[in-house]
Amino acid sequence: MLTQNLGYPRIGSQRELKKVCENYWAGKTGLRNVQTVGKNIRHENWQLQKEAGIDLIPSNDFSFYDQVLDHSFMFGTIPKRYHEVIQQKGNDELDLYFAMARGYQKDGLDIVAMEMTKWFDTNYHYIVPEFYKDQQFKLFSTKIIDEFYDAKQLGIITKPVLIGPVTYLLLGKEKEAGFQKLDLIKNLLPVYLEIITRLKTLGVEWIQFDEPFLTLDLSEKEQQTYKDTYKQIRKEFPFLKIEIATYFESLGNNAALATSLPVDALHIDLVRAPQQLAEVIAHLPEKTILSLGIVDGRNIWKNDFEASLAIIGKAVEKLGADRVWIAPSCSLVHSPCDLDSETNEAVLTIGIKQWLAFAKQKINEVVLLKNITVSGGSCQRELAENILANTNRNGSALIHNPAVKQRVSSITEKDAHRRSAFPARKIQQQELLRLSLFATTTIGSFPQTAEVRSWRAQFKKGTLSEAEYNNLIEEETEKAVKWQEEIGLDVLVHGEFERNDMVEYFGEQLAGFTFTQNGWVQSYGSRCVKPPIIYGDVSRPEPMTVKWSGYAQSLTKKWMKGMLTGPVTILQWSFVRNDQPRSETCTQIAFAIRDEVVDLEKAGIKIIQIDEPAIREGLPLRKADWQAYLDWAVKAFRISASGVQDDTQIHTHMCYSEFNDIIKSIADMDADVITIETSRSQMELLDVFADFKYPNEIGPGVYDIHSPRVPNRAEMINLLKKAEAVIPESQLWVNPDCGLKTRGWDETKKALVEMVAAATAMRETVTV
Ligand code: GLN
Ligand code: ZN
Repeated sequence: MLTQNLGYPRIGSQRELKKVCENYWAGKTGLRNVQTVGKNIRHENWQLQKEAGIDLIPSNDFSFYDQVLDHSFMFGTIPKRYHEVIQQKGNDELDLYFAMARGYQKDGLDIVAMEMTKWFDTNYHYIVPEFYKDQQFKLFSTKIIDEFYDAKQLGIITKPVLIGPVTYLLLGKEKEAGFQKLDLIKNLLPVYLEIITRLKTLGVEWIQFDEPFLTLDLSEKEQQTYKDTYKQIRKEFPFLKIEIATYFESLGNNAALATSLPVDALHIDLVRAPQQLAEVIAHLPEKTILSLGIVDGRNIWKNDFEASLAIIGKAVEKLGADRVWIAPSCSLVHSPCDLDSETNEAVLTIGIKQWLAFAKQKINEVVLLKNITVSGGSCQRELAENILANTNRNGSALIHNPAVKQRVSSITEKDAHRRSAFPARKIQQQELLRLSLFATTTIGSFPQTAEVRSWRAQFKKGTLSEAEYNNLIEEETEKAVKWQEEIGLDVLVHGEFERNDMVEYFGEQLAGFTFTQNGWVQSYGSRCVKPPIIYGDVSRPEPMTVKWSGYAQSLTKKWMKGMLTGPVTILQWSFVRNDQPRSETCTQIAFAIRDEVVDLEKAGIKIIQIDEPAIREGLPLRKADWQAYLDWAVKAFRISASGVQDDTQIHTHMCYSEFNDIIKSIADMDADVITIETSRSQMELLDVFADFKYPNEIGPGVYDIHSPRVPNRAEMINLLKKAEAVIPESQLWVNPDCGLKTRGWDETKKALVEMVAAATAMRETVTV
């Protein structure tokens, strides 16, 4: 029995990589420094895993930005527009690499970055490979070989990790017509073979091919490509030890395919999909090793050794100990680095800390699970400790709040329905709100300037008193309200100056949540996030936003829109407890938000927005599972929104334009108004409405807030006219496509003046 790891966090336990890269991009440090920090992180990671007793330690899991980009770089999948970067004087290979990730504006060149998208259903973003019709590949970067060699110098024979050729192609995008990306396999495979040859010369024993697409719905052609590809690799290297790693879902109907591939070891995710074990074992060829992904690579909870040992026991019984490996469920890049460096004892109470495991602790868990299995007696103390921590957690009063459980279990249909249907509500809302056609609004936040952020930092440090901090935020809010009145917006917002982040702000005030000081996880490139931890039953002890929304409303006679984050988004962007279904936790959050909505209404806020930008990204990887998710997610939103009178107008906001396939569920959310990001593909969005009659009101974003460019009224009028062609004007709102917190005031002001002018012009076309 061996232990293995699939990948280790590469940001450094103190986010060293982030810091050095950002300094380099800002011209504050040199390339040598970047290389050194990278090398140190790799060495530390390898040593740490070696000392912990991991048998198969990964290499090439390090990355300066993103592992998919590393592969594009390795294979020379470098779009032509970047070729000039390398020709510029003084530029290194790494400058070209960063240019692909971040774009390049220097010395007269202005080249856009490559596209970025979410890595399966995680919050990690990868750089999408760009494929062209006659795409050729060649070994351009030898990073994987250099890293293997480097580790070997340290006395560690690592297991290089490659994204498998089929997954690599499926991750990419065809940038022109006339070919299919999978057909590029014949050009790509020779580069893989060359890399393997070179690694073999250096003494490689095992190679890991990540093929997470094996857990997704696959077409005939995709399945066939899998068969042909691995057959070919096997033919070239009859004695190479190959592992295929799958994760994030069960193999499901691909179990027969995955187990038929001629490889030596297959890794499966038994945290996400424990039910697949029996079927995979049944299919597994006689000599193939099964790697049990049993320590959760995507969450922060301590492993339940008793449950894991039972699973390992079953596998060993069927396969024999020699054919069983123990591993984390997926790469630990999705976990924070090290619980030992967690300093926030005050928030992270002693009780909760002992329930957690970050990457370093997970590595130890993997080794312990093996040791307990093979030589049980010597690890009794560790086993007992683990059992104690889990028993303590399961029964803890910190987690269980009977009133919350009672409320969720006695939920009725009524809780998820507004008093009347939309047409009746619309009449009452019109009567009360008296908004004109093409009503204008914004999505919630206004620029979070460095100044505003510095107030919060000073407040947290204690150099600014609460009263002083509140005063400053009040002044900023007042300025924003006055200014919105001045330019003639119809529905105002308070600006969200008091918020650090749209999930953290609520998490800090809800019971059942906690935060770490140092639990950073890479989101993309140098960007890291520190998700809240939902450890217990969720409730709302006190109003969270009523003070600020009420204050803002007191400054104006216009309608002030209350601003909340929805239950699905809060769930989606947190570490979620694993002792009950996600749907249950989401429902608890929904009731907490509902309480806030009702309190806002009581305070006279008659328009309330509940943001759900993450609803789409919660979609399961397999289509067959979508409806079940959508059912509970939509219901959670409805619970949060349904406590109010008919004349209170509920808005929601979403940031994805690709929601054609879930438009029906979005309509089922039954928000009175939805504002959506559309401006990057306005036409695509509007196409949906040609087929589907969206019943309620809708504000398709009329300009893109992701760029500092100021749009002019003519282009917004143009977009609104297109929208009007498919959505009746009585249903249309006019708004930017997302919150404005990342923008500067100057461009924000100019853009919104133009937007109001566009709405005014549209109204004139109606009355004429
Ligand atoms: N109300 C939030 C804001 O304006 C919405 C953010 C989002 O959509 N991600 O910032
Ligand atoms: Zn948004």
